[in-house]
Amino acid sequence: MAKLKSLAKHQKKSVLNKTINFFVKSNFHAYLVGGYVRDTTLGIKPIDIDTVVEGNAIKAAKALNLKLKGKLCIYKEFGTASIITKAERIDLASARVEKYPSPAKLPHVYPSTIIEDLNRRDFTINAMAMSISKEDFGEIFDPFNGLEDIKKGLIRVLHKNSFNDDPTRIFRALRYKNRFGFKIEKKTKIIMKEAIDKKMIKQLTGQRILNEIRLIFTEKKYQETIKDLSDLIIFKIKKKDWELLPLLGPNRIYLYLSKLDTNEFPLKTEERKIMHDLNKTGSIISRLEKTSKNSIIYNILYPISDQVIDMIPLIRPELKKKINIYFRLKKIKPFIKGNDLKNLKVKQGRKFKILLKKMLDLQLDKKINSRKDALQYLKNLKNNE
Ligand code: ATP
Ligand code: MG
Repeated sequence: MAKLKSLAKHQKKSVLNKTINFFVKSNFHAYLVGGYVRDTTLGIKPIDIDTVVEGNAIKAAKALNLKLKGKLCIYKEFGTASIITKAERIDLASARVEKYPSPAKLPHVYPSTIIEDLNRRDFTINAMAMSISKEDFGEIFDPFNGLEDIKKGLIRVLHKNSFNDDPTRIFRALRYKNRFGFKIEKKTKIIMKEAIDKKMIKQLTGQRILNEIRLIFTEKKYQETIKDLSDLIIFKIKKKDWELLPLLGPNRIYLYLSKLDTNEFPLKTEERKIMHDLNKTGSIISRLEKTSKNSIIYNILYPISDQVIDMIPLIRPELKKKINIYFRLKKIKPFIKGNDLKNLKVKQGRKFKILLKKMLDLQLDKKINSRKDALQYLKNLKNNE
């Protein structure tokens, strides 16, 4: 905690310093909380600055932003706001109590004090606060001994109903465990397994599950978390698919999603297309390996999304050359367009499409090298009909 105080003191002119100065002088009672306190204690640079205000955080955010001059985002329904400056992001939340109307549903929220606010949090390591107000500046609030758990490297829930109230905490627990190399505390593990056995995750909306999966894939240690989920029989994944993930680059999440039942997930059409195409990579690779003809390479890859094509050389480096050929071919402008066939009185329909494709294939394979030759070729075809 000494680290936290000295950081707060020494970061002159930084966004943090300006934020602290603002709160020390204002009438808002504010605290650094959650990830900020945890990461600073661990000696890690926090991703963002999490604060809680007793009272109206939105009002506080508006006033603070007059000093920071960042981008202010207000989430009225949650009583929260964010300020995004060039250097930092600050989250401001109004201290709140949460009451769960039924398990796994979103809670009703009511204004509260900082202690009540810490009670609603997921894990002890995330339930600490430090005052940045003049009355008690620097005072640490650690009602669940989070500091001890940080030292011991433990992820521990605050109460035995925690995973039933909010099963997304199962994903969060595994994420933190792997990010920090911590262990899940014994009792926490037991109640986590109970919640899994009770199929609590099924009670979450697809939107919330998808959000958790996206967060997992932003982490360095995503592969460990995916294994943990599989071992816990939440989302089983085959060893060969799991081993493939690190090879696939930033779009690897889609391979994972393509193995899950995602009917209820709010995925974009382009994302579903990537997932669909990814399941065809085996056959695409074997077809590409068998050919070196431009038109065949083009026709194999043309229906496939670029994100999946980019992954092919990551899986099979020998195919890099053919993928480069494809991207070059894709830029070629066809000598013959639909209008040319219409002018030659070719009727719309299957034959029309086949002919158009044939003309492009001939061009890609350099059998026809100019528009003039292409038109001549078509005329000859017509005359021989
Ligand atoms: P990260 O470094 O991943 O941002 P974080 O701890 O800041 O970690 P956030 O998801 O930004 O995590 O949430 C901020 C804080 O809000 C957490 O530290 C935790 O106290 C609380 N919190 C977030 N999600 C939940 C949840 N599902 N249940 C209870 N508390 C939560
Ligand atoms: Mg955070």
